[in-house]
Amino acid sequence: MSQHIALLGSTGSIGTQVLDVVRHWPGRFTIAALGAGKNLERLAQQTGEFHPRCIAIQQESDLPALRELLNVHAPAFSGEILVGKAGLNAIAESSVSALVIVGLVGLAGLEPTLKALYAGKRVLTANKETFVTGGHLVQPYLDRVIPIDSEHAAIHQCLKNEPVKAVKHILLTASGGPFRTFSAADMQKVTLSQALKHPNWVMGHKITIDSATMMNKGLEVIEAHWLFGVSYDQIQVVVHPESMIHSGVEFVDGSILLQMGAPDMRGPIQYAMTYPERLPNPEPKVHLDFLSLSRLNLEPPDLERFPCIRLAYEAGRLGSGATAVLNGADEMAVQLFLEEQIDYCAIPKLLEAALNAHRQESTPSAPSLSDIHALDDWARRFVREQANPLTARSTG
Ligand code: MG
Repeated sequence: MSQHIALLGSTGSIGTQVLDVVRHWPGRFTIAALGAGKNLERLAQQTGEFHPRCIAIQQESDLPALRELLNVHAPAFSGEILVGKAGLNAIAESSVSALVIVGLVGLAGLEPTLKALYAGKRVLTANKETFVTGGHLVQPYLDRVIPIDSEHAAIHQCLKNEPVKAVKHILLTASGGPFRTFSAADMQKVTLSQALKHPNWVMGHKITIDSATMMNKGLEVIEAHWLFGVSYDQIQVVVHPESMIHSGVEFVDGSILLQMGAPDMRGPIQYAMTYPERLPNPEPKVHLDFLSLSRLNLEPPDLERFPCIRLAYEAGRLGSGATAVLNGADEMAVQLFLEEQIDYCAIPKLLEAALNAHRQESTPSAPSLSDIHALDDWARRFVREQANPLTARSTG
């Protein structure tokens, strides 16, 4: 029987690879709904190919352009077109699918994920910000959640159904990003185009910059804490430049299980989509030749050069209010860096300043959805204001 899927973030890096898997297994999956942002042409093409019953876009003002593109790419489409946050939420809880796949970036992923879970659906998610901002809200429904993030998919495979008490450490691997071997002085001169070149993975801009600062690993530490119910002391980040070991688990009896594979997101995506069944990889050229591995490098992260990891542990121990602040601050700092308004080294400084300012406030440790949005707004505003003098100095 075909599984009906609502795919949120269909035109992004995760979304297009989910559709690769769907295309590869005809009859097994049906695309019931697609939610996209501003890539109207790709959404129109996907609509023509996969025939969803409804689609959603971010902005109402894009509707006329979308209708024109649908006339070209999907003339037979007669379904509903939804708009904005309400559109994504409606798709997430709609009865057209029992499975929701979340490939959205940022805090935007939290609310539709909660809507899908409240509606009793299964959720496959690549959106780490869901856990970073609202891990405590998702926690009661974890038995219906499978992670797509490659490290967490790896841990999911190593853990099977072992109880938390069997786990000694989570071993969370990190490529180290493009600046792994840079000195602190070299890092002062890093440019945007250097930061956008990830050595092993091709991903969206936000996550690529987060990988360069290693904030991505920090966010994944918090994600692992909520997904697997382990304390922050039990999560060890391991820098592994080859990206062949995707993460692992050390159990209390001393046994260590690691999951390996080629660095290709269709692996974890298909694993989650067909779980508990394993099927051949949709791209047979993507293959890890175990016998060709002459050497694997593993080392602890340098928290001096990559302070974002330390900040994530600090925020995580403070609670969900602090991690929501850290996340909002990071989204804004990365945006300012992508707009070339701030330098690379300003990113961790702005995050630390936001976290320190937040410590002075008294905020709930288990914030509601509206609290989370308020903390996110506060953190973004704080970073923008703090960045102003930096911007003035570098341009004047
Ligand atoms: Mg990851």
